Amino acid sequence: MRVPALLALLSLPLLSAERPNILFLFSDDHALNAISAYGGPLKDVAPTPNLDRIAKEGAIFTRSYCANSICGPSRACIMTGKHSHVNGFPDNDFSRFDGTQTTFPKLLQKAGYQTSLIGKWHLVSQPTGFDHWEILPGQGSYYNPEFITAAGPRKEQGYCTDLITDKALAWLETGRDKSKPFVLMCQHKAPHRNWAPASRHLGLFKDVTLPEPKSLFDDYAGRSSTLKEQQMTIAKDFHWGHDMKFHGKTEFPEHFLGGIPNGEYARMTPDQKKTWDASYDPENQAFIADMKAGKLKDDDVTRWKYQRYLKDYLRCIRAVDENVGRMLDYLEKSGLAKNTLVIYSSDQGFYLGEHGWYDKRWMFEESLAMPFLARWPGVVKPGTRNDALIQNIDYAPTFLEMAGVPIPATVQGKSLVPVLKGETPADWRKAIYYFYSGENTHNVAAHDGVRTDRYKLMFFAKTKEWNLFDLEKDPQEMKSLHDDPAYAPVLAEMKKTYDEKRAEYRMNPGTVPANRNPEDWWKQRHQQKKPLAKKGGHELVFIGDSITQGWEEAGKPVWDQYYGSRKALNLGYSGDRTEHVLWRLMNGELENVDPKLFVVMIGTNNTGQRQDPPEQTAAGIQLIVELLQDRKPDAKILLLSIFPRAEKPDHKLRQLNDAINQRIKTFADGDKIQWLDVSNTFLAADGTLPKETMPDFLHPEAAGYALWAKAMEAKIAELTGTPEVR
Ligand code: CA
Repeated sequence: MRVPALLALLSLPLLSAERPNILFLFSDDHALNAISAYGGPLKDVAPTPNLDRIAKEGAIFTRSYCANSICGPSRACIMTGKHSHVNGFPDNDFSRFDGTQTTFPKLLQKAGYQTSLIGKWHLVSQPTGFDHWEILPGQGSYYNPEFITAAGPRKEQGYCTDLITDKALAWLETGRDKSKPFVLMCQHKAPHRNWAPASRHLGLFKDVTLPEPKSLFDDYAGRSSTLKEQQMTIAKDFHWGHDMKFHGKTEFPEHFLGGIPNGEYARMTPDQKKTWDASYDPENQAFIADMKAGKLKDDDVTRWKYQRYLKDYLRCIRAVDENVGRMLDYLEKSGLAKNTLVIYSSDQGFYLGEHGWYDKRWMFEESLAMPFLARWPGVVKPGTRNDALIQNIDYAPTFLEMAGVPIPATVQGKSLVPVLKGETPADWRKAIYYFYSGENTHNVAAHDGVRTDRYKLMFFAKTKEWNLFDLEKDPQEMKSLHDDPAYAPVLAEMKKTYDEKRAEYRMNPGTVPANRNPEDWWKQRHQQKKPLAKKGGHELVFIGDSITQGWEEAGKPVWDQYYGSRKALNLGYSGDRTEHVLWRLMNGELENVDPKLFVVMIGTNNTGQRQDPPEQTAAGIQLIVELLQDRKPDAKILLLSIFPRAEKPDHKLRQLNDAINQRIKTFADGDKIQWLDVSNTFLAADGTLPKETMPDFLHPEAAGYALWAKAMEAKIAELTGTPEVR
């Protein structure tokens, strides 16, 4: 071992003998109400003894929440320890995980951990930071699934939950370097839709009537009007084939959507089909006969669907529980158990008929909550019940601290190590922040909000509605109290918390990455710039808006004179605000770019188009600077003041830009990030902006570009190590 590495190891706080292993057992859409350790209504009929074992031998967290309740986004939060707008994966519709960003597996790998990912990934891009990975394509399949490795896809025979465990066990036994600690992410597809149970579990719950939630027939009164618009009800939004497991075309289109057949059935072997049909057909035929005989009212049909849905869901969970048991048994047998943190979690919760729903997305408790069970012998006291407010952004810093790896300052979550030890800090967070971007699927409106130990505040951007819930008095969240005078002080306090949390996480319209793809020219420009970036070899990259783009037009002769021999790339887009730059940089414009210097000037459109408060635009610029530092740590950044705009210095927009500049100049560190204020280059002595250099009081003309280039030249020469152009 090299000496510096040895010294680093000696300084590890947790290094009593050897660094702990991490087994991260993860599932998809597993509701707390379907884990018996959480004590929900299904605990006796559908127990989960192996999951409960983790809780019994370790800790169960009762206030564990996601930051964004859908598959990909929750996973991106886990990988990065950052909220969706910062990690750049806000939705499943359009997002692609930028695998060039820093993630906890990368940092653990660098610190000498063996890193492995097996099972569902769902972040579109190829995994990075893993010594070994074998993933399902997209959502994956339950029956005879394909797995993808770096070598390509391969179809396998068997049931997905079992196969993922087989692969995880094989990696633990023979696939890793046993002299090193490991992190293994074993991530199941189950119990995700369309809830296709293993053959051996098809008979479970046959003669049982599962208890119904009280809100199965919720009418959505007393809460945001958007609740009525969603399309995720058991009553109306189940498919005849895909969800309800009938064959053929829907026979009752008023109750069952047609169109999507049960794709899992098509994947089965003849034997698997035979077992499947033997289980479902008699029930299906009995239901169809009852329907045809007019025996079932609308509510009866909903109840029947609820039973079909939930039984399949719980059957899928039975396989998860069994397979968690296999993993725990292996840890015991191999002797790994004593130095391994075992976590069981799921990307979000799920509605098991509450509010009449299946699926997730909403900030209501059932899908906001994530299961979190943790066993760590010698650290976590067995039988602990912990009610600290924790979130999926906390996992990455937890794993880093466990491994003795410094937590990057840009990570937004908090390490749970003290919480796991039973030493929750006195200043632990009092509220969590949640954000859902509003996807097309299921038509759930965009909303965000905060939750404290007792209250929840939600904001619906489309309708500008606030919803407030007192979770102590109304745990099912059936009536918003936002207009109840008795709750006015609570509402005011919660709105303050909401603003504080958004400021803390730098969440505002200028920080949520957004593309302008509906605008053809913009999309085309992005498509043209990406291959240039991919080619690499630039010394200098300019990032900005129309003022930067103008180097290709009014500024062209000056550009040629100053940057023609410097291999410079222009990433300026007319009309762009900070959120557009963030999106571009996360979506291919930095791929192979490795310059000596980035020149960044952005923000005047946040001012001009929306009159954003200066602290918000500054936050957007700060995220851009942090992104560049994260992706290209060796490059320097020349951060420019936003140009003065409007003729007179007392103009509102001029003052906004001045206020942004006051803030962003503090981002400079005098080393990697250098600040240059070029305002005075353009302004007359009395602060007015002369028409000759900027005829529209916003964009420079040729003469203005000459002034700009001259003002930057000494710095650019210094920071790129190239001779000064005179
Ligand atoms: Ca999910």
